[in-house]
Amino acid sequence: MNKAADKIINVCGIERESIVDGPGFRYVLFVQGCPHRCPGCHNPESHDFNGGTGMTVTEIFADIMKNPHLKGVTFSGGEPFEQTDALVDLGHMIRDAGLSLMSYSGYTLEELKARHDSSTDELLDMLDILVDGRYVESLRNLTLVYRGSENQRVIDMKKTRESGEVTLYRSDFDVEVII
Ligand code: SF4
Repeated sequence: MNKAADKIINVCGIERESIVDGPGFRYVLFVQGCPHRCPGCHNPESHDFNGGTGMTVTEIFADIMKNPHLKGVTFSGGEPFEQTDALVDLGHMIRDAGLSLMSYSGYTLEELKARHDSSTDELLDMLDILVDGRYVESLRNLTLVYRGSENQRVIDMKKTRESGEVTLYRSDFDVEVII
């Protein structure tokens, strides 16, 4: 790892063993800074771009590698796609370690593609799953898996890349919660 590649990620928080932010045991990196300001956001302390704690890519990767039981890593927020340069570097290291990679974004996949930005495209290309779209409080649904509101999509990025059409991750996936 050369020093030039060791970029800083502005971090809001870390959940080292989550089972609710993607398939299997996952390390969840909550990045700091979000421009969307969705009413009812679950993580309003992540909005301020001036808040958070700076951590290097290698520092975060070393922390991920401490846990041999992880299936993958999820980028959450905040808005991961406001920090694509550094997250691409971390993403490559995660993929090279054989872990799956998932990201949330308040932007839709179509909005991200319309940026025509190389690091955005590179990050999209390495994802297994993207959960896209802003949180819409009026469409909140507690039975949804990995997403908070019905407009958001859990996208199978590998199948989407192969077919050229947005393909959802296991469309029968959401479950009825019986209380
Ligand atoms: S995109 Fe996510 S983190 Fe940002 S305001 Fe909306 S719900 Fe909150």
